[in-house]
Amino acid sequence: MPQLNNQRPDHQFAEFRVKGEIPVPVLITWLTCAAVPVLCFFAFRAYLRAESFNVIALLLLASLLAANSLVYLSSHNGTRLQQGFIVLITALFSFLALSAIEDGTGVLWLFAYPPLVFYISDARVGIIACIGGWSGLALLFSPVGKAIVDTPYSASFSLNMIIILGFEMATCYVLDQSRRRSKLGLIKLANQFEYAAKHDALTGLANRREGHARLNDEYERYLRNRREFSTLLMDIDLFKSVNDNFGHQAGDRIILLVANTLKAECRRVDTLARWGGEEFLVLLPETSNAVAVKIANRIRESIASQSIEFEGQAVSATISVGVATIQGAESIDRLLQRADEALYQAKSEGRNKVCGGINQHSAA
Ligand code: GH3
Ligand code: MG
Ligand code: MG
Repeated sequence: MPQLNNQRPDHQFAEFRVKGEIPVPVLITWLTCAAVPVLCFFAFRAYLRAESFNVIALLLLASLLAANSLVYLSSHNGTRLQQGFIVLITALFSFLALSAIEDGTGVLWLFAYPPLVFYISDARVGIIACIGGWSGLALLFSPVGKAIVDTPYSASFSLNMIIILGFEMATCYVLDQSRRRSKLGLIKLANQFEYAAKHDALTGLANRREGHARLNDEYERYLRNRREFSTLLMDIDLFKSVNDNFGHQAGDRIILLVANTLKAECRRVDTLARWGGEEFLVLLPETSNAVAVKIANRIRESIASQSIEFEGQAVSATISVGVATIQGAESIDRLLQRADEALYQAKSEGRNKVCGGINQHSAA
């Protein structure tokens, strides 16, 4: 959700593909495969009628369309394929209107242009291409156009063609807009579900499942490059008494205080997870045991120095922390077990403590 607001809708639209939707480069490649033989067929018919200019133009456009897709197959540059395709089909449809091939019926292919151009490009390009194409056709059918280019279109055919094409373009625009809006709605929903599946609703920190996933990622990195990482397992001290004395609402606010302190004291690369009710796990990548103990103490001191005001009373809390730094070939489970043992030790040594330092057995 938070990232969604920072991204341009068109950018998201381009990046995200709904399951089953045909990717634009694939669609263009298939359309090219269909268009090239059709163009060759009409070139052959033009050849039989001895329309040599039309033969050359149709074969040239077929070759350029094929070349555009072949370049894509070697370069995998989808944007260039898309731009090349739009330019070539615009040239093709302009040619069909101007040359009036097939006894003037070639211009009917123009009805294929609006849905195509809206599907394969963004809305802005679609609008520009359609308005440009429609204006060009209106000019061609106008008395001025007829004076410049000799076309066989009757006045009533021209009038109907212009109105129907304009109607089709407007319909395609409306349908395309609703398709884009539905797709953006789906993207938003998918992001919200993904966020909810990975985060704790009260604090916004990673939830336990996400914490485990990040721990696994860091462990994989450790196995590859042996860069040690540390974990801090934290538990709010005597939290039950906060609930008992001030109520659950006050308890929730203490949990938020701890979460906000973690956000303020840790780096962006660190993972902060709500591990359980009043337990938190902090994953510190590329952090030695000595540095992890220092960070844990900084967090512990910061929390102890703060309080919340609840119904006119100051409520404060302390935390106990178990530190564990990955060592040798131990598993994640073993690492977490050591962090848990260190936390238990901190509790039994009087709470508001950090345990698990390699050199100093406990630090307060
Ligand atoms: P210790 O120092 O040994 O950890 O004592 P404690 O009282 O913190 O530990 P205990 O496990 O006895 O109590 C934890 C309490 O945390 C019990 C539970 O009701 C409360 N708790 C868990 N999740 C939440 C929550 O989301 N909000 C509130 N307000 N309380 C919660
Ligand atoms: Mg607990
Ligand atoms: Mg507790």
